[in-house]
Amino acid sequence: MAAFITIDGSRGEGGGQILRSSLAISMISQRPIRVTNIRKGRSKPGLMRQHLTAVQAAAQICNARVTGDCIGSCELTFEPNAVVPGEFRFSIGTAGSTTLVLQTILPALVIASGPSTLILEGGTHNPLAPPFDFLAKSFLPLINRMGPQVAVELERHGFFPAGGGRFRVAITPTDRLQPLSLVERGEIVNRRAIALISHLSPEIARRELKVLGEKLGWTDSAWTVAEAPNSPGPGNVLFVEIETPQLTEVFTGFGERGIRAERVAERLVHDVRRYLAAEVPIGEYLADQLLLPLAMAGGGEFVTLPLSRHSTTQIELLEQLMDVKVEVHELRKDARRVVVRS
Ligand code: ATP
Repeated sequence: MAAFITIDGSRGEGGGQILRSSLAISMISQRPIRVTNIRKGRSKPGLMRQHLTAVQAAAQICNARVTGDCIGSCELTFEPNAVVPGEFRFSIGTAGSTTLVLQTILPALVIASGPSTLILEGGTHNPLAPPFDFLAKSFLPLINRMGPQVAVELERHGFFPAGGGRFRVAITPTDRLQPLSLVERGEIVNRRAIALISHLSPEIARRELKVLGEKLGWTDSAWTVAEAPNSPGPGNVLFVEIETPQLTEVFTGFGERGIRAERVAERLVHDVRRYLAAEVPIGEYLADQLLLPLAMAGGGEFVTLPLSRHSTTQIELLEQLMDVKVEVHELRKDARRVVVRS
């Protein structure tokens, strides 16, 4: 087995993303890694339940040898074997984000030697993680354009703190991801706002939509109030979807105890306006999540907002671990062109 590559988990953004991306790259490149200082940038450092599930999921799909895989651990070694596709079920056991567990194993499974089906259980709509709707409508359609076919089906919403959500994933892999170019935003062909609630008054949803409608100048034909069926706990999420010829961007606001519905909507309006004003196709979250697939494809480009720390950290990691160079060109004050080359 080759020597371990050491990754300092505290650098840049210093959170769970460096760990997940390192595991993903270890599996696709079949190289052993040692991740040190895991989540040292966070107030509760080390592996939390959701990160540990991601490590265990990664280990299971490639029969990896792992050390340091326990709650609170700040150092981990991971020695992958060949990825074996198949049927898997991963349950976080808390409301931790299931979509972030998928983010860890999806890169290896989309280029695996056969199809896989997954069941993921835990949180499906967590603050600071991709909500299921973003995955289904925004991220995966772009991944599917690169060659594989990944279909997802939500069975039950899981909100923080009750969790209890579940979704299924069916993956038909491809031999190699194809590069993607997303440089023009184009006209907006559709826009929608959806206020989702579970075990809460629909009045909350209506108040959020009223603010969105007023501030964005949208008529109520573009709004929907949706109730999450069967979710075990309360929850409230507000989505704005902007569809352009090449893709759909999904912006999300999370209702929180003690935060007024109007405030949730105002924060979201800020994110949507920033995206619309910049006239770029790719928003902040798609940007950091597309970098690894483009590196796997050996190239690609997109135009996006000024890069988040998640994106700059991801670029550093990709340049360390994969044979790629990432160029970032400033097009305008609020627009960047990101080019990935092998
Ligand atoms: P930690 O607990 O250490 O903060 P984490 O494991 O929760 O880390 P991060 O390292 O912060 O996660 O990474 C969060 C990921 O979730 C990023 O890839 C980011 O793009 C994505 N993300 C966060 N919010 C959204 C959102 N509203 N829509 C889509 N993706 C999101």
